[in-house]
Amino acid sequence: MRVPLIAGNWKMYKTAREAGEVVRTLRGLVDGVQGVDVCVCPPYTALVAAVEAAKGSCIQVGAQDCYWEKEGAFTGEVSVPMLAELGVSQVIVGHSERRQFFGETDATVDKKIGAVLAHGLSCIGCLGETLKEREAGQTLAVLERQVRGGFARHLSSPRLVVAYEPVWAIGTGKTATPAQAQEAHAFLRQLVGQLAGPAVAASLRILYGGSVKPDNIAALMAQPDLDGALVGGASLDPASFAKIVKFRG
Ligand code: PEP
Repeated sequence: MRVPLIAGNWKMYKTAREAGEVVRTLRGLVDGVQGVDVCVCPPYTALVAAVEAAKGSCIQVGAQDCYWEKEGAFTGEVSVPMLAELGVSQVIVGHSERRQFFGETDATVDKKIGAVLAHGLSCIGCLGETLKEREAGQTLAVLERQVRGGFARHLSSPRLVVAYEPVWAIGTGKTATPAQAQEAHAFLRQLVGQLAGPAVAASLRILYGGSVKPDNIAALMAQPDLDGALVGGASLDPASFAKIVKFRG
């Protein structure tokens, strides 16, 4: 019932020219794949090129962040309507690198998710614990705090996707084991059930992110509460991203 989503977060990699090339190669590799949604999220400057290259294919294009106001004196920021006009259909919000390096908080995540959904786009909202928090046995408490602080008001939107990304697994080559990921996802789903009801919990897509590669995606996707992946490093190479998209073999 939940169609898996495989989304690529390109971070600050790829110029507009490179992005067009990657998407053109990728569409040749994934077009015709059934039963999975595919999305790539290039930097702002490459969005137009990616949208152009993806036209007529199954590949959706997302942004990596946004600001919550529609317009105004907010130097350097980009609003959701500006992204929508380009043909962008998704926005990542609350990535741990935004939280760690750019002062993103649960309160700003709440505002950004609200803005994305209000303007009719889909939102991939990220959360996850640090290594220190995991080692202190605080993982589930941290996830609960992040859900309550950033996501709770938006859970009933069918355009919200949650991405569980343990910070210690991002870009480190250390993937959560399938059991660790499943434990977090099951916890998140039951929490969403408590906050928004069983129907919302049953339909909410929860992605896993953190060093997902072609050789670990199948084991992760075999877990009952994993509904796809947010992929960083391995999404930059179209061949490896296509293998992840084709996780069913
Ligand atoms: C990410 O950037 O969201 C991510 C999960 O990165 P990586 O796959 O490289 O760990």
